[in-house]
Amino acid sequence: ILSVKDVYKSFGEEQVLKGITFEIEEPQIIALVGPNGSGKSTLMNIITNLLPADKGEITVLGKNNRDPNIFREISFMQDNTVLYEYLTGYDHLQFICDVQGLSKKQLLETADRIGITSYLNKKVKNYSLGMKQHLLLAMAVVNKPKLMILDEPLNGLDPTSAIRVRELLLALRDEGTTILLSSHNLAEIDRVTSSILFLKKGNLIRENMAEFEQVRYQIAVDQTAKAEKA
Ligand code: ATP
Ligand code: MG
Repeated sequence: ILSVKDVYKSFGEEQVLKGITFEIEEPQIIALVGPNGSGKSTLMNIITNLLPADKGEITVLGKNNRDPNIFREISFMQDNTVLYEYLTGYDHLQFICDVQGLSKKQLLETADRIGITSYLNKKVKNYSLGMKQHLLLAMAVVNKPKLMILDEPLNGLDPTSAIRVRELLLALRDEGTTILLSSHNLAEIDRVTSSILFLKKGNLIRENMAEFEQVRYQIAVDQTAKAEKA
């Protein structure tokens, strides 16, 4: 479904990704975890071809990620800076539906499923952070993609909404969707992911949830080391 091979990226002197390689072979939820600034968003931007890699090769659903035809089968939820304050939630969804030839019925069904119908016709400038997150999620779901890349989907959600979104992600997975999501909070995603990609100093450590305790331990060790330094 997704193959990332030997991806490198630097910004000036700063080497952010130093040879990232991993594959997702069957529908599942995979988490990309790492502290602020570890390169999660950079890697997602590269996978979705918004940012060129310095080196490396990415295959999405059997096609090179630069193939323009993959946009119907993949979606990317970025942070809420991609929203237009003076447009409504409906406008945002309609734009995607127009570009991808989706019906109004599909738009409304998606809004209902994500739970944003009641504020769909309000301007985004009147949305709370959580409402924006829900709209972004609806925008990522509306085309029923085979692969969803979600950058911090649980950011800013209250506990009840976070539970609902986690349930939605599990339902999507059961329908055959592959989800790569980022988080800097292991606790909020450990019950939905089957494996964790842990970004550390530009390299990737992959852990099955069975070996999850080891990752948790490593994070604790890192945090202790950091605290001792400070
Ligand atoms: P967060 O958890 O805060 O979202 P992240 O893991 O998504 O962090 P990135 O946003 O990918 O991290 O940033 C990784 C590093 O690359 C950071 O040091 C950041 O300053 C740098 N960086 C990202 N984008 C650019 C850019 N366009 N130009 C220069 N440096 C950048
Ligand atoms: Mg980020």
